[in-house]
Amino acid sequence: MRMCTFVAALALAGAASAQEKPGFRDTPMLPDGTWRVHDPDRPYPAVVTPGAKPGDAPSDATVLFDGTSLDAWTSAQPWKLQGGVLTVPPRAVKGVGNDLVSRQSFGDVQLHLEFRTPSPVQHSSQDRGNSGIWFMQRYEVQILDGYQNPTYADGTVGAVYGWKPPLVNAARPPGEWQSYDIVFERPRFAADGKLESPAYVTVFLNGVLVQNRQAMLGTTIWRKVATYQPHGDAAPIQLQDHDSPVSFRNIWVRPLAGAPSEK
Ligand code: MG
Repeated sequence: MRMCTFVAALALAGAASAQEKPGFRDTPMLPDGTWRVHDPDRPYPAVVTPGAKPGDAPSDATVLFDGTSLDAWTSAQPWKLQGGVLTVPPRAVKGVGNDLVSRQSFGDVQLHLEFRTPSPVQHSSQDRGNSGIWFMQRYEVQILDGYQNPTYADGTVGAVYGWKPPLVNAARPPGEWQSYDIVFERPRFAADGKLESPAYVTVFLNGVLVQNRQAMLGTTIWRKVATYQPHGDAAPIQLQDHDSPVSFRNIWVRPLAGAPSEK
């Protein structure tokens, strides 16, 4: 083969392989003005290997608790770690909470967590299996023994505490492990501290949707209407000590790129 023919053949092969990329170049532009419908040049999503079974951490997760250590957390008094299970300990000082705080800070995040409320049951209403996940140490998704436990609706398990009851009550009985899968979007503040967009939370309790991209009202507070105070783009996740021996296992997060409103 003469050299010029060989080069031409190579060029043809290259053109052919480019044309063979799956997709279309004669389709209309999408509203974002960047890509065509079925654009062959649009980047592929990063590969993430899912956990071996549902609930297991995927390959890109930040594991906060896998049953072996509390290295990812800090607290005034140590929480109890026994048999791979983490439990809120009795209070060292009566009336003083001992929350567990992640060492790492997060903004927008996907979280998986499993919890178990005490059995036999202790106490009633808000004193029965109470804990909570406080995103950015401010915004609580409630943990409670919500199984046949009368309490105010905006304080039961799956609630955005003090604001929105869960869409349904998907609680398991006390003593059984339950799962939370949550997408939290942090609030956005302007440079002058004015709220640009609220926090949003999507919550699955035991695989059942209980909050559907629900806007949050502000920093969680008891017996008052929550309001926002401006803060930074990342802060720790906090597990609440509400003087109930609630247990935890399998806690992981995936920090997320910008909120849907930014895309
Ligand atoms: Mg709580």
